[in-house]
Amino acid sequence: MRREFTLIELLVVIAIIAVLASMLLPALTKAQIAARRVKCVGNQKQLALALMTYVDDYNGFFPPLKVVSGGDPLYRYKRELITGGYLRSGGRTITNDIQTDTICQCPENLTMVDYYMRTQGYTQTNAINAAQKFGTYSTNTQYAHHDPSNYFGPLFITALKFPAKCAMTADGIGGAHHLQGINIMAFDHGGICNATFFDGHAESLRRSDVPVGLSKNLVFFTGR
Ligand SMILES: [Zn+2]
Repeated sequence: MRREFTLIELLVVIAIIAVLASMLLPALTKAQIAARRVKCVGNQKQLALALMTYVDDYNGFFPPLKVVSGGDPLYRYKRELITGGYLRSGGRTITNDIQTDTICQCPENLTMVDYYMRTQGYTQTNAINAAQKFGTYSTNTQYAHHDPSNYFGPLFITALKFPAKCAMTADGIGGAHHLQGINIMAFDHGGICNATFFDGHAESLRRSDVPVGLSKNLVFFTGR
């Protein structure tokens, strides 16, 4: 006689599958977080390469923060890199601005849209627009406005005495913010913030790896 599954046996099998799936899910989530962290490092390495290529082409000078009066300095500076062919344009943003290269956007990107909505009162659309326009990586502009009264004066690379210790780009709470303190850095990758340094190397940093105190005066942020 053919034996059929009873309802109880079926339920037991379903319960076992559910337990196995619940054991697997955290591992999958961890793998996804790790994959996005690696993609982010790749993005920032490309951004660092674009900046260093510019420096090479311009005999050791970093791009100036502003090339014309008015407008947001970081937006202008990324436009300058796009215009010069060092970054691609990512097309148009959600509200039809020029979108920066998609490599400027962290795939985790948990903080930035939330940041603009929470602290700047942006609508969700405008917050997404800002992320697309500025990118989500904060850039260390110590090199560009070492003279705070002069956004236009670019920095000669040899002014940085310790390029390997000075962060150049990092996951940021808002891509329009200058990287000048730990409060600007976003630790969205499971407590990790990816960064590149002025010698071109990349690091995944925990909060405890970043010097604090009068942080904007430290070698980590000034290179001097
Ligand atoms: Zn990231």
